[in-house]
Amino acid sequence: MSAKQRIGFIGLGIMGQSMAGHLLAAGHQLNVFNRSKSKTDDLVAKGAKWFDTIGDLAAESDVIITMVGYPSDVEEVYFGAGKILDRAKNAYLIDMTTSSPSLAKRIAEEAEKRGCHGLDAPVSGGDVGARNAKLSIMVGGKQSDFDAVLPILKIMGSNVVLQGGPGAGQHTKMCNQIVIAGTIMGVSEGLGYAKSVGLNPETVMESIGGGAASGFQLLNLGARMIAGDFAPGFYVEHFLKDLGIALEEAQKVNLDLPALALAKKLYEGLVAEGCAKNGTQVLFTKYAR
Ligand code: NAP
Repeated sequence: MSAKQRIGFIGLGIMGQSMAGHLLAAGHQLNVFNRSKSKTDDLVAKGAKWFDTIGDLAAESDVIITMVGYPSDVEEVYFGAGKILDRAKNAYLIDMTTSSPSLAKRIAEEAEKRGCHGLDAPVSGGDVGARNAKLSIMVGGKQSDFDAVLPILKIMGSNVVLQGGPGAGQHTKMCNQIVIAGTIMGVSEGLGYAKSVGLNPETVMESIGGGAASGFQLLNLGARMIAGDFAPGFYVEHFLKDLGIALEEAQKVNLDLPALALAKKLYEGLVAEGCAKNGTQVLFTKYAR
């Protein structure tokens, strides 16, 4: 591939807007489409090209990146009539949405039949990682396809690893979400305990944030919990989607993951209470008195 690509980006939400912005800043031609057009305004003002349909964007892009919400959205943008798989020509198709491993395999198979190259490349690092181009990107696909798109992925992430064939990126992301499920419960419980026994949560953070309990969830989301800031960096409804995919995949291999199951139950409760559009740190409200 030549150095400067025509990159189509579909899904310009919390994550996609920052990620696409880095590609534009790096000098690539950026073609954009989003369900709500207004979310592309800033990028278009900076030189991105808006397309009225996904199909037209796909036909005019060498690399197509998707960062939508749910597997159902991924299914629609790839397999919908006249959309990506119908219109892309010899393009690299990179789904960065957190989605199901089996869907990633279907996309890669269909892409190959149509002369395209499919990769799954979900990310970790949150809204902060997307803004700072410091995402961890876990990739599934062929080595030669990975090598071809690596320079583009490196613009958005600081840690880009090929995990195996199609679907392996999504499986790796499930490992990530399983770890986070346990961690965010621990962070919420620890800070809930601090508050209940009358400690100053900020000085508690000073101590435990510099010790063995430290990590992204504690430092970033713990700080937001203490500040009472439950705005979304990562939506509860998206996390619940991930927990569902991970539990389903674990069940397929007869693996019992009790912490994951408990996290799913707690987040289902939060959704029932109207917290779907909060950030995942809202779990703290279950423990804070
Ligand atoms: P988001 O803000 O909801 O962004 C998704 C964007 O995709 C929205 O702007 C949405 O349009 C658009 N979209 C959805 N379906 C579409 C379709 N069929 N056609 C065109 N556009 C469509 O969510 P996000 O936080 O950026 O997350 C995106 C994905 O990354 C999710 O799978 C999430 O689980 C994953 N993820 C998120 C984080 C995080 O910290 N936020 C971290 C790692 C991974 P509308 O604007 O109309 O809704």
